[in-house]
Amino acid sequence: MDRCESCKGISRCTECGRGVTRFDHLGVRATTSQAGPGLNVSGIWHYARPCGHRAHVQAAARNVKYNGGPLWQNGYSWQNVYWGTYFTTATAWVRSVEKATADIEADSTYSVGLAQYNVGIGRFAQPAIIKTAPPTRLSDSQLRQALTSWIASGAVQKLETQGAYNIFLPPGVTITLAPSESSCAVFCDYHNAVNGSNGPFYTVEPYPCSKGCNQCTGDPFDTLTQGLSEEMVELKTDMDPGTGWVIGNEELCDFCDHHFVCNRISTGEYVNAWYDQNKRVCWTGTGPAQNPAPTLFQPATKSRVGQQ
Ligand SMILES: [Zn+2]
Ligand SMILES: [Zn+2]
Repeated sequence: MDRCESCKGISRCTECGRGVTRFDHLGVRATTSQAGPGLNVSGIWHYARPCGHRAHVQAAARNVKYNGGPLWQNGYSWQNVYWGTYFTTATAWVRSVEKATADIEADSTYSVGLAQYNVGIGRFAQPAIIKTAPPTRLSDSQLRQALTSWIASGAVQKLETQGAYNIFLPPGVTITLAPSESSCAVFCDYHNAVNGSNGPFYTVEPYPCSKGCNQCTGDPFDTLTQGLSEEMVELKTDMDPGTGWVIGNEELCDFCDHHFVCNRISTGEYVNAWYDQNKRVCWTGTGPAQNPAPTLFQPATKSRVGQQ
């Protein structure tokens, strides 16, 4: 998607003044440490092309809306891709991540509940470990090139439009969305598509950030599952960011992050809630004891959504 409702009228970059031919739309979870009013909230972030600066666009009306793009169907495949030899020895970590992604995808209310958005349940392919070291600092476009080359060489499965990759980065690697926008400093994780609605689709999980990405515990694994669960849900419900289910400039978990509640699925992993349009509340877990105790999200009617 080159333009959405929010950016269709923007012809010049507000930062550098260059003409904007199109915007890249990415689904991004912001760090809480950098949050500022309207500037660094989780949602669909707009990167102007060709200059690459992020535009802080006005949100369209914050109603739950489907924009007609691809949605995740039953039987689509996830493949977890671990980039770096680090993961060949971090076997316990990889095993835990494999279990968490499978648990998230199978949870009877967290994942299955997305049926109300006409979104199905996926299955997991065998994970791939890429035994080359990523650069210590790389851009999303370099990551896209890497993913494209892995698909071409058979290092990862060829999922095309019927699935997605969770790409995990090792410790010490920073990914950037713009030269001044680095993982852990500005954002926690994100999802994107290499070639719009034609895919391939992917989430990116930097090694868990030490602050700003976990409001529930100090545990790196809990940090990972909170981000991963959000990106998996948002990828499934909005595969090509902005073309699927959105609430203004936000995806379904971003909206719930405003009233953040710590939640766990029935198997115990911490997850970020998504907005339930039938019940008009954010999803809450029924899993093992939650910490801190959850407070009920104030039900938002469609008209109230627009006033937040
Ligand atoms: Zn836009
Ligand atoms: Zn610019």
